[in-house]
Amino acid sequence: MAGILYLCPTPIGNLGDISERVIETLKEADLIAAEDTRNSMKLMNAFDIHVPMTSYHEYNKTQKAYTLIDKLKEGTNIALITDAGTPGISDPGEVLVKMCHEEGIGVTSLPGPCACIVALTLSGLSTRRFCFEGFLPADKKEKEEVIEDLKREYRTIVLYEAPHHLKATLEELRRNLGGERKIAVCRELTKKFEEVSRLTLEEAVSFYDKNEPRGEYVLVIEGIDRKAEKEEQKKNWEELSFEEHMKIYTDRGIDRKEAMKSVAKDRGISKSDVYKALLEK
Ligand code: SAM
Repeated sequence: MAGILYLCPTPIGNLGDISERVIETLKEADLIAAEDTRNSMKLMNAFDIHVPMTSYHEYNKTQKAYTLIDKLKEGTNIALITDAGTPGISDPGEVLVKMCHEEGIGVTSLPGPCACIVALTLSGLSTRRFCFEGFLPADKKEKEEVIEDLKREYRTIVLYEAPHHLKATLEELRRNLGGERKIAVCRELTKKFEEVSRLTLEEAVSFYDKNEPRGEYVLVIEGIDRKAEKEEQKKNWEELSFEEHMKIYTDRGIDRKEAMKSVAKDRGISKSDVYKALLEK
């Protein structure tokens, strides 16, 4: 019988956050695949876990996944851990899970610490709908494309960032999303110097101009305020005459009746009001 791959979340700063089930699963596994075996040794020592370890990191993730799949097929139960947090979230776990599914190997994911969720819940921003972007792409063009999408994002946005890129990222976000946009800069979560700074992007840029970023960061940014945007649009529409407004739609090949409906919707008035206004001009 094939083995099972267990995704085991580990603490993102506070050792007390490991679950009993994760400790038990790690102790019972035949093999632990870890992002950095030296780093994970501290965790193993802290919880008295004595199971062989092998490395599974970003640089060998596809090649090594084949080796791990072979072992799973032979019946080896493997627990996957990363440096911190939930395997598969902005770390190499994703590739291995995909390959297991393709090979018909069982995978189970244990719940546990994840910096994205800790930051989101602490941010004080809307948690009802959110999107997780992980790290912004390193490639300049790809990064610009992602930021372009974020400009129109209504949901709360969660980003991971390394301290040495923080200033540049905040500046780029301010330039594109506007200085008034709210952000919660979440730092050193679950650790002694945990801190959540609720600022505007303008304030965040100016704070980090004077203070060197230190530690680990998650950025939680408010999405576009849909209601305010509609108000803004209404204001802009009202700057146009009714004929100019109609022309936006008729120029797109939309017939006058449908165009009137759209104009009414944009301005938050009835179709008959649009009709009257057009007759009156
Ligand atoms: N798999 C992990 C998880 O579940 O959160 C994330 C791994 S990713 C390689 C590492 C990034 O997560 C860091 O650069 C930082 O943005 C964020 N992070 C991890 N631990 C953190 C902490 N204690 N406080 C703030 N951010 C943290």
